[in-house]
Amino acid sequence: MKALKHISLAGPVLNGNEKKYVMDCIDTGWISSNGKYVTAFEEKFAEFCGVQEALSCANGTVALHLPLLAYGIGPGDEVIVPTFTYIATANAVKYCGATPVLVDCEESTWNMDPSLIEEKITEKTKGIIVVHLYGHPVDMDPIMEIARKHNLFVIEDAAEAHGAEYKGKIVGSIGDVGTFSFFGNKIISTGEGGMITTNNKELAAKMRLLRGQGMDPKKRYWFDVVGYNYRMTNMQAAIGLGQLENIDWHLSKRKDVANAYIAQFSAYSELFTLQPEMPWAKHSYWMVSILLSDKIKISRDELMNLLAVDGIETRPLFYPMHQMPPYFEESTYPSADKISARGLNIPTNAVLSDAEINYICDRLVYHCNNNI
Ligand SMILES: *Cc1c(COP(=O)(O)O)cnc(C)c1O
Repeated sequence: MKALKHISLAGPVLNGNEKKYVMDCIDTGWISSNGKYVTAFEEKFAEFCGVQEALSCANGTVALHLPLLAYGIGPGDEVIVPTFTYIATANAVKYCGATPVLVDCEESTWNMDPSLIEEKITEKTKGIIVVHLYGHPVDMDPIMEIARKHNLFVIEDAAEAHGAEYKGKIVGSIGDVGTFSFFGNKIISTGEGGMITTNNKELAAKMRLLRGQGMDPKKRYWFDVVGYNYRMTNMQAAIGLGQLENIDWHLSKRKDVANAYIAQFSAYSELFTLQPEMPWAKHSYWMVSILLSDKIKISRDELMNLLAVDGIETRPLFYPMHQMPPYFEESTYPSADKISARGLNIPTNAVLSDAEINYICDRLVYHCNNNI
């Protein structure tokens, strides 16, 4: 079969008012971190998540750092994080001088396993960061219950899950704080950018202060604390507003792509399976992800190379934190180890055509069948 043109894994689709709004920033000179698009983007994002406060910031990593700082996390503190995540989740804890304490994932959702959290809680534990991995929401009820029982905060790292829902509630509105990323490959993008959501006004005020170098809101150029410059620019917010106005379109296109994959893959479950979707979950499909069965006799990386020759870009699932030097541990986390070794992300973006999806499925099945 002849290869189609290169099919990329992900990429932004900027088909709304993004260009018009950015040109307005340039025409008016409002290109830095003050301006009407910053306010409009924050207000519309708060409304989208159904929360009282949304704070834009420079990226999804500092969106995690700011709430940890506002909670006063520092050396000697522990924060529980999943081992199976993108490294930013653990790094944000490390930036505070605190220790990320790792928990394995569950095989049913690939997210942090709530039943393994309590054994990791010590008198030093201050909070839990959950990650809605690849767009599948975390089972939040048991986690909120554990957090309330032990007096811990819960941050939802929703960097990959804009618009995902848990039992009808939108992610980023369930824990004490939600954080989002608008990197170029995320569900909606501002190039680089992040957002923090919360209903805690006091915490929001602290985060706002720390985001703007710690300047006293009532006395310009007076600083009581060491703050940061973690602001988003008006130009990024202009793109973000254009994206957010169309988020229902972006989410429904992704859902269509995922459904097309699901329909084709159901006949091949002995070769590979998809990241499961729980009955209580609304997956927002940042990435459609598959897990190779043990029947396939080549490695995940070998399969990825074969697909690359076909012009299909794929990506390995994240390496668990405990396997990599900054967070290395001898102990094993069996579910994360297993899923990470045999899983890959396949192209997922809002403009993937049916012909491309059919081609990807054909090649995937062909290579798998050739290597049983
Ligand atoms: C992308 C991502 C981040 C960080 O976002 P950046 O905007 O790239 O800093 C944090 N956590 C998770 C789970 C992510 O996927």
